[in-house]
Amino acid sequence: MRPVEWFVRAVRPGETHHGRADYRAESVVVSPMCGRSRFVALNRSPIHECYYDDQRCPDCLRLLASPALTLVRAS
Ligand SMILES: [Zn+2]
Repeated sequence: MRPVEWFVRAVRPGETHHGRADYRAESVVVSPMCGRSRFVALNRSPIHECYYDDQRCPDCLRLLASPALTLVRAS
């Protein structure tokens, strides 16, 4: 299984999201899995292991833990 890719919206607790990344020439635009609005990520390379426990978006984490969405993600 591939590691979960995280993208930073802001350097605040809960502002690192998982979602679909659209790689553009100058930026990475992320559509978060949790349904929040798209954003330009601060990091170009995805983070696989977050530095702080409270860094990750709790809604994205909850969705990643759902077996149904894991199947969707794998396809
Ligand atoms: Zn999120």
